[in-house]
Amino acid sequence: VRLISYRAAGGGEQLGVAEGDRALAATALVPGGPATIDDLLRDTDRWLDALQLAARPGRITGEGFPLADVGLLAPVPRPGKIIAIGRNYADHVTEDGAVPPPTPLIFAKFPSSVVGPGADIRWDRAMTSQVDYEAELAVVIGRRARDVRDQDALDVVLGYTCLNDVSARDLQFADVQWVRGKSLDTFCPMGPALVTGDELGDPDDLDIACLVNGEVLQHDRTSSMFYSVRQIISHCSRAFTLEPGDVIATGTPGGVGIFRDPPRLLGDGDVVTVAIEGLGELVNTCRTRPAMEV
Ligand code: ZN
Repeated sequence: VRLISYRAAGGGEQLGVAEGDRALAATALVPGGPATIDDLLRDTDRWLDALQLAARPGRITGEGFPLADVGLLAPVPRPGKIIAIGRNYADHVTEDGAVPPPTPLIFAKFPSSVVGPGADIRWDRAMTSQVDYEAELAVVIGRRARDVRDQDALDVVLGYTCLNDVSARDLQFADVQWVRGKSLDTFCPMGPALVTGDELGDPDDLDIACLVNGEVLQHDRTSSMFYSVRQIISHCSRAFTLEPGDVIATGTPGGVGIFRDPPRLLGDGDVVTVAIEGLGELVNTCRTRPAMEV
């Protein structure tokens, strides 16, 4: 199924299931069911089974509301943690002048950076002048996981979505590590939907692209990743517990703005689209503001 989080009429967050351009509240599909994604994540297996049974073909298109009528949120609006993988595509490693990491290179983005589809990516021009895009396949964990073997790793996944690992390069390169440059507010757009593994199929062979104002600037397949989704999950779970709602951003292909000649960094009004086969398109607009008076 395709799970969405959206702003309900009363203003609260609501979990829905989408089919085509329509959706239905999870509580309408399953009476007494999960009102939010956090409710679902408290008992992933029970609610996922119930929603999959209830969402029989045609029901959502018949009974649902147009997706265009609601404001979408990130599928997981506030993850417990966001684990990001660096230098996981050959072309990106080459453009960075780096070497492939001997094990998955892990860094973090703070959960407060998450925004949904259609939200603005905002920054203060006094804080950063080198904002960049990174199209990434994001994995959402559905089951608590510790010491998972490669071959069992996909069993702990709830689903997949598009993620833009927006990066302030000047801050990233000035600091010895990357967390500040990767964690500015609004620098982690996610969505539009969380597509479960049974619906998506193999996560390790998907077309992935990033477009800025319609121009394709990144284009690859997830099969180009050095470390597969299985290997990344297994590697992480040997170091720390993966919890329901955690997000893993699996790395970005070549073609990021900072390493282009000339560089193609983001500016006010730029529209950035992350498009991944089977997962739809995540579209966000950049808005800058001049230095704030202090
Ligand atoms: Zn990244």
